[in-house]
Amino acid sequence: MKYSRRNFIKTASIATVGSFIPADILPANKSALQINDNISKIALTGNCGYDTSSVEKALNVNPAVMPLTDWKLGTSLSLTTPDIEKNMLILKEAGIDYVEVGMHSSKDMELAKIITLVNDYKKAANITGINIWSIHIPFGWNFDISLPDPILRERSRQEILLTLKLAKGLGPYQKAILHPSYEPIDEALRTAHIASFRTSMKELGPLVEEEYNVRLAIECLPRTCLGNSASEMMMLVGDIPSVDVCMDTNHLLNEKTEYFAEKLNNRIQTIHVSDYDGIDERHWLPGKGIINFPAVINALVKSGYKGPFMYEVSINDYDNDMQSFANDLVSVWKNLIKGYEAYIKREIEDK
Ligand SMILES: [Zn+2]
Repeated sequence: MKYSRRNFIKTASIATVGSFIPADILPANKSALQINDNISKIALTGNCGYDTSSVEKALNVNPAVMPLTDWKLGTSLSLTTPDIEKNMLILKEAGIDYVEVGMHSSKDMELAKIITLVNDYKKAANITGINIWSIHIPFGWNFDISLPDPILRERSRQEILLTLKLAKGLGPYQKAILHPSYEPIDEALRTAHIASFRTSMKELGPLVEEEYNVRLAIECLPRTCLGNSASEMMMLVGDIPSVDVCMDTNHLLNEKTEYFAEKLNNRIQTIHVSDYDGIDERHWLPGKGIINFPAVINALVKSGYKGPFMYEVSINDYDNDMQSFANDLVSVWKNLIKGYEAYIKREIEDK
């Protein structure tokens, strides 16, 4: 795998990495404070020639340097995935514990059919031990909550709430992924779309949390869609704490994914992972495109990210062969862990 060092983050300190150790992965006799203290001492020796044995020791005692082995894998799946129980079992046995369910619009499918599929899904998840982490709310003009026209916006609001009602049978799950707009967004109307979106979120965020016990996660998007940069995402949800952010690693066409991850920090509570060429979204397996995954993962670790490593890779190339798909997701993850470990070691050595 090619990992460019172009975007190497010089400023990330070892002490900062140490400060985000999840309590449940600490060695029994070490407190986060003790470990941070050890790491800080090493960091403080700076460029004055610290001896490498203390770095090696730090690598051994500090699980934050290699915490990824504790992360759980997930993948997005359509509600219409055939043979769902058989396929969930394949995922589970391969080492994938979580799924995100791509919901269908009531415009495209009869309600009774959606309800049947939801019930089948939940049953399959229970039998196979798969956790449903999130749902993906459909997108399109019918679901665009940024529309400046209040009547059309209310129609979208009703569609979103209907989806949540239908998805109740999948619960309890954690996040409902929502696109901040459809596309294309007319540049002259962009400010109006942003204002409408914000008004909607201030009302919908608390309502969804209260009624469905789920948090909306607003996804960054490519092209002219709303939320196509870190600064715009901050404008959309920065001061609305009742909603989270979903970072799609292959949606940022104007800035590096790791930049977005650093800026949005712990507002990112769920992710869609895939690779791209920087020109448009591709939903490739990580490693096929240009994303500097060690830097992206490092930013997530530092932000204290606790959600699953949720792939949103296109299954189309696999011709419905779930076994090959699952094997590839897991083996790519193992490579990403190796790449991340090497990145952290270089970071320490460069200090
Ligand atoms: Zn996505």
